[in-house]
Amino acid sequence: MTWKNRADVVIVGGGILGVATAYYLAKFGRKDVVVLEKGAVCSGSTGRCGAGIRAQWGTEMNCRLAVAALDIFEQLDDELGLPTGLNQGGYLLVAYSEHEFGNLKKGMELQNSLGIKSKTVSLAEAREICPALDASDAVGFTYHHRDGHADPFLTTFAFLEAAKKMGVTYLRKTEVTGVSVKENRVTGVDSTGGHIDADIVINCAGAYAQEIAKMAGVELPNWGERHEIMITEPVDPGVCPPMLMSFSGNYYIQQRPHGSIICGVSPEGHPQDFKLRATWQFITHMSTVLAKLLPVTRGIRVVRHWSGLYDMTPDGSPIIGETDVKNFYHSTGYSGHGFMLGPIAGKVLAQHLTGSKPDIDFSKLDYRRFARGELIIEPNIT
Ligand SMILES: Cc1cc2nc3c(=O)[nH]c(=O)nc-3n(C[C@H](O)[C@H](O)[C@H](O)COP(=O)(O)OP(=O)(O)OC[C@H]3O[C@@H](n4cnc5c(N)ncnc54)[C@H](O)[C@@H]3O)c2cc1C
Repeated sequence: MTWKNRADVVIVGGGILGVATAYYLAKFGRKDVVVLEKGAVCSGSTGRCGAGIRAQWGTEMNCRLAVAALDIFEQLDDELGLPTGLNQGGYLLVAYSEHEFGNLKKGMELQNSLGIKSKTVSLAEAREICPALDASDAVGFTYHHRDGHADPFLTTFAFLEAAKKMGVTYLRKTEVTGVSVKENRVTGVDSTGGHIDADIVINCAGAYAQEIAKMAGVELPNWGERHEIMITEPVDPGVCPPMLMSFSGNYYIQQRPHGSIICGVSPEGHPQDFKLRATWQFITHMSTVLAKLLPVTRGIRVVRHWSGLYDMTPDGSPIIGETDVKNFYHSTGYSGHGFMLGPIAGKVLAQHLTGSKPDIDFSKLDYRRFARGELIIEPNIT
C-alpha cells in the first residue's frame, strides 16, 4: 500500500469501530480516510469478543443505539455484499432473584416504550426457545426475538472491503506514536510508518484509547479490563438457538452455526492491565455453569480459551464526540458491547462529520459528561 502524507481523516485503530466509521465516512462522501492499525484486522477486542447483539438495555441511549444497530445488521449483508454471519435466535435473559427479575422487567418497560418488543417468558416458554435448557432455579426470563449474534471477523472484513472499494486506505502493522496539535487543533499523527497530516483524527483505539488521547494532552477516564471467554468442540446445532445471558449468573452463551459453543464472563475481579492471560479459575467456573444450564454439554471438550479487553468508562456507556482539542474525536469506551454498537456508532459519527443530522443524537455521550456529573449509568452490563 502506498504511503500517504496527508488525509482528510486519520482513524487510529482498525477494529469494528475504526473500520465501520471509515466505511460510513466514505459512503457519505468523505473518502480520503486512512485507518492505522498497530496489529492486524481484528487483532484487538473485536476478534476476541462474544459478538452478541441485543436491544435489551437499561438506558434510553443504549436502547436507541442498539435497536438502530439491529436495523443496520439486518440489511448489512446486502449493503456490503459480503456475509456478516448474523443469527437472530434472540437473547434469553435469565434472572435468579425477584430483585433481578424486577430490574429486567423495568428494562423491558423502557425497551417497550421505545418500540423494542422484548417480553417476559415462562420457564416452559424458555424451554421452547432453548430446548436443552435446565433453569429450574431461575425466577424469570425476558426475551427479544430480534437479538442474536454475528461473526466479528466476517462483519469487520465486510466493512473493510466495502470501505476500501470506496477509496479508504487501511494500514496494518502501523502504530500511532504521537498526535500533533497546533493552536489547540489537531494537525495529524506520527506513526511507525511516518507522519500523516490530517484535518481530523478519530481515536478508535479500544482499550488503548486513553493512551492515544494522552498523546494530544486529553485525559479520558477510560480503563482496560481483562475478560475471558472460551469455545467448545461442536455439539448438535440446535442445543442453544438463542444467546443465553444472566447478569447475576455471570454468563453469556451462544452456539456457532457449526455447533461449537462460545461462552464467557469471568467470575470475579477483572484485572485492569493489558495482559491477555487466561486462567483455570475461569475454565472451571464457565464449564460448571455450562454443564448445569445445558446438561447435554456435560463431558464435552473445551478447544480454546482466550481473553480480551473491555474498554471501560465510569458509567458503562461509550464516549463519542470531539474533545477540547479541535477536530480530535473519540469513539471509545464500549465496555462489553462495542461489537453490536460499532456499525451505528460509526454511522452517526460519520453523519456528524459530513454535515448531516445523525440518526441518533449522541451529544449526551460527550466525554465532558463525567466532569458535569451527568453519567448515563447502564445497569445491564456483564
Ligand atoms: C471477552 C469479550 C467478549 C465480548 N463480547 C461482546 C459481545 O458479546 N457483544 C459486543 O457487542 N461486544 C462484546 N465485547 C466488546 C467488544 O469486543 C468491543 O467493545 C469492541 O470490539 C470494541 O471495538 P473497537 O474497534 O473499539 O476496539 P478493538 O477491536 O480493540 O480495536 C482497537 C484497535 O486499535 C488498535 N490500536 C491500539 N493502539 C494503537 C496505536 N497506538 N496505533 C494503531 N492502532 C492501535 C488495536 O490494535 C486494536 O486493533 C466483548 C469483548 C471481550 C473482550
